[in-house]
Amino acid sequence: MTPSERQAALEAPAQTPASRRESLEAIAAEVRICTRCRLHAGRTRAVPGEGHPDTEVVFVGEGPGMNEDRQGRPFVGRAGDLLVRFLATIGWRREEVFITNIVKCRPPDNRDPEPDEVAACLPYLQRQLQVLDPALVVTLGRHSAGRFIPGARIGQAHGTLHPVDPATGAGSAMVYAMYHPAAALRAPDVERQSYDDAAGIPAALLEARRRRGDRAAHATPAEAIGSAPTAAPEPVTETFPPPDAIPADPALDAPTLF
Ligand code: URA
Ligand code: SF4
Repeated sequence: MTPSERQAALEAPAQTPASRRESLEAIAAEVRICTRCRLHAGRTRAVPGEGHPDTEVVFVGEGPGMNEDRQGRPFVGRAGDLLVRFLATIGWRREEVFITNIVKCRPPDNRDPEPDEVAACLPYLQRQLQVLDPALVVTLGRHSAGRFIPGARIGQAHGTLHPVDPATGAGSAMVYAMYHPAAALRAPDVERQSYDDAAGIPAALLEARRRRGDRAAHATPAEAIGSAPTAAPEPVTETFPPPDAIPADPALDAPTLF
């Protein structure tokens, strides 16, 4: 954190539910008219993201597809339907989490976003995460995992919990990686694995809450409101949770969000 960012964090008023909603809407309004990268030229509508402003859990996909581009809303096509089914298995609804993407405009023909497009768009995600201050970020797919868990390979990272680099904006979150639901739609083994990974989300949230509580309890007052930690975060790369720790009926044990 630079000295000016540190000053901004110190001066930032505590977010209330109303101010969070307002800040998210201000970011969304900027995104809807953004021309910072070439993707604006081919979009029908930009897709800022949506969800509960007071949620503890943020899902981050790659970028809008055709349906999202038409509706201006994230994950509303077949991949979105599958994401909603994953959430239902742990007793959550999409309105209870926040869902967004790395890039907010649809890449032509659903190609991968280019590095300069990602770089141009990331400040929006960073600001959304600063406002939401989630306990848990769930990455969907390898592009999103690559942002939050540098060097991650999705084949190894899925179903695992990691500390988040505070530079992402999610300064007090842990990150849990999943395959992209579109990949699950193409391959039954990825779909089965994704249901298993979804079953691990409640335990990941409980662990993320616990670590956040520990950090808050040990922080000096300045640290508690967002200045740079004095020590590097403890690295956590274990597979999480261990397979036999997944409850037989995850819905029974899932922490409620609201
Ligand atoms: N795929 C994504 O990565 N994001 C969406 O919003 C929809 C499909
Ligand atoms: Fe702006 Fe992001 Fe859309 Fe590019 S992808 S035009 S940076 S909102």
